Amino acid sequence: MSNSNFLLSDISTIKGVGTKTRKYLQKKKIEKVKDLLWDLPYSFIDRSKITSLDKLEIGKVLTVRVDVLKYNFPRMRNLPNTVICGDDNKKIKIVFFNSYEGYIRKILPLNKSVIISGKINYYKSNYQITNPTYVKPIEHVDEIAKIFPKYSLTDGLLEKNYRKLIENVIKKIDDSFEWHDNSFLQNNNFKSLKTTLNNLHNPENNLDIFSNDFRRLAYDEILSNLLTLYSARKVIKIKKKRKKIFKNKLSDIVRKNFGFNLTKGQNKILAEIDKDLKSDSRMFRLLQGDVGSGKTILALIAAANVLEDGFQVAFMAPTEILAKQHYELALNLFNKTKINIDLLTSKIVSSDKNKIINNLSNGNINFLFGTHSLFQKKIKFLNLGFIIIDEQHKFGVKQRIKLAKKGGDNCDVLSMSATPIPRTMMLSFFGDMDISILNEKPKHRKEIVTLIKPENKLNEIIPLIEKQIKLNYQVFWVCPLIEESKKLNFSSAKKKFNDICKLFPNNVGLIHGNMSIEDRNKVLNLFINKKIKILVSTTIIEVGINFPDANIIIIEDANKFGLSQLHQLRGRVGRGRSISYCILIYKKNLTQNAKKRLKILRETNSGFIIAEEDLKIRGHGDLLGFQQSGIKNFKFADPVHHKDLFLSAENKLNTFNSSSLKKYEKLIKLYDRADIINQIK
Ligand code: ADP
Ligand code: MG
Repeated sequence: MSNSNFLLSDISTIKGVGTKTRKYLQKKKIEKVKDLLWDLPYSFIDRSKITSLDKLEIGKVLTVRVDVLKYNFPRMRNLPNTVICGDDNKKIKIVFFNSYEGYIRKILPLNKSVIISGKINYYKSNYQITNPTYVKPIEHVDEIAKIFPKYSLTDGLLEKNYRKLIENVIKKIDDSFEWHDNSFLQNNNFKSLKTTLNNLHNPENNLDIFSNDFRRLAYDEILSNLLTLYSARKVIKIKKKRKKIFKNKLSDIVRKNFGFNLTKGQNKILAEIDKDLKSDSRMFRLLQGDVGSGKTILALIAAANVLEDGFQVAFMAPTEILAKQHYELALNLFNKTKINIDLLTSKIVSSDKNKIINNLSNGNINFLFGTHSLFQKKIKFLNLGFIIIDEQHKFGVKQRIKLAKKGGDNCDVLSMSATPIPRTMMLSFFGDMDISILNEKPKHRKEIVTLIKPENKLNEIIPLIEKQIKLNYQVFWVCPLIEESKKLNFSSAKKKFNDICKLFPNNVGLIHGNMSIEDRNKVLNLFINKKIKILVSTTIIEVGINFPDANIIIIEDANKFGLSQLHQLRGRVGRGRSISYCILIYKKNLTQNAKKRLKILRETNSGFIIAEEDLKIRGHGDLLGFQQSGIKNFKFADPVHHKDLFLSAENKLNTFNSSSLKKYEKLIKLYDRADIINQIK
């Protein structure tokens, strides 16, 4: 079997992995041989160091040197055999489950000195080691490996066996198994794949993400990711589409109905979109624009030209409320035109739904708004020419490819996102797409004043709220929890709702994730129609919806949230004609780090700066914001600490042609991107 095939085969192909071990490994998400290798030990244990019995620490794996003092072999089933051992200072109990008396007498001969290694625990005021990993006569102390890699194993997996397994796998890899040129490896101080893996699995230090060995894996991971996106992009671009022809009459009406002039930034981006639409290769473009920068109107103007050319257009939003809001905006902007606009959500009764499905397939509906439901199998467009996806950051590359396919060869795709991605990561996440960045906000926009306040000064802001409500403005009040929790000392939406109702009777609504979508929508509609002025909620108000009259957002336990998330939440205000306020509340005892983060928010309103800062403050592997937004994290590569590797991999990609792709095929497969490549083909 070739090295590639071996590494990609099921773990049961390794000698010694039976159904039982296989099950345990699967619990650790280890299915293929390669998965064993990618699961690096996080630290190491030095078993050669002997600890005296008066220095034991509970929970640690330690090695002791003791004399065997006394056996206890109970005659009752289920009771473990135990052996009392001791050194000059103290005694310790060695406990054996499932070991026979004869065996125990052999490895622990009475009155002899032995070396025992295992995890120390404490039971009924005795230190003890249960089922020790190693028991050796002191003459054989060398046989206790000096240094032991430490893996996070699930129950049922024995460290000793697991180590053996990995050793055997690494042994089977040829030293020549490699995708990089020798010179490349040398220039970067990288070793062959086999040596790299061998080093990483036999560590003499705690896992170090700056070591050359670790960096090599990180680099490979970044490169394989870039290559995958590169291939996806090629497939999308290769087929020629029918160019869209612009008349600009309908789009002029839309612009006029909108009533504002576009900003310079908006015009620039619209030109980029138009160019794509008019070209003969398909558009696959991401429009990144900070919250409130005015992306929606751009999509609608572009849609007007495509509609005028006789195509259908689909506009997809992540929630029903947002879909409805976009739909209503379109009804206004396309008012008195021939364009037939409709809305498809899960709330629509099935007879109406069938009508919509019919009208789509016969071309009576030109412009359809909706949620994910737009892309069900039974929904067939007559001639879909343009798909717009709002707040698309929750989609991974696989979903994007699926979508592009659904549209067919003549269909252009524009997706929009307000989650700013730092520049270093742009290609790694969106290398399959072209990217437009909208940085500037509409000019008349009033500023958002961000205040940071301890909880005990909350009452100071009540007069501000009273005043703004009297002026007919509205307030968001965000809490991290739905209900009070005994474990977490965070504010809950339900309790806050009760408290605030007392202050502002009949003027407060509550929404949270445990309510049905219908109930949530009812409350949201009350808020949109300004029947209530204060909306208490969890973070579910995060995306997209436009409330021009909301000018205060209060976020409780703000330090609990990620920076980017706070910025998104803040973006719910500041869209109208007045100054807005974002009030970040914290309970006492902010950490240094938390203080720093909140300060960044107070000092800047730019999502891009915040995203960069967010990255800098976070530690390795701690890209919570990105995980939350569904963008898959890297296993090894770290956008902050391996910035140079990201850049170097991008440079490499620029030298690529289709034959180089072949050279790196193994790499792509081994790093889990193969399924994506298959989907593209
Ligand atoms: P986002 O980019 O966050 O999706 P929206 O498209 O919802 O932002 O726009 C936010 C608000 O800004 C909307 O009320 C929209 O009507 C308004 N807006 C967009 N472009 C302009 C402009 N050029 N001038 C004035 N207001 C604008
Ligand atoms: Mg939006």
